[in-house]
Amino acid sequence: MISIPKLKQDFKDFKKKYSREDFIEFVKQNDMKEINALVCFDCGREFLTEKQKERAGVVTAQKGECYICKDKKMVTSSRHFNYLVKT
Ligand SMILES: [Zn+2]
Repeated sequence: MISIPKLKQDFKDFKKKYSREDFIEFVKQNDMKEINALVCFDCGREFLTEKQKERAGVVTAQKGECYICKDKKMVTSSRHFNYLVKT
């Protein structure tokens, strides 16, 4: 399993050469764990871009354990939070 710090490091290296969209594609192709991680809205919010924060969107949420804080609450796929990649 690839850890979040590792993912961030990969992104930092990758970012020098490629765009965020390319990186997300890279994450997808490498089937990284964070792709399917369930994350609560409190934890996921920090991974949203300023533009995304302004936009009020509706996503499918379910009750579950957050991948980051381990709390049992409403969570959704890390996909909605840019795969936990900070930009
Ligand atoms: Zn959380």
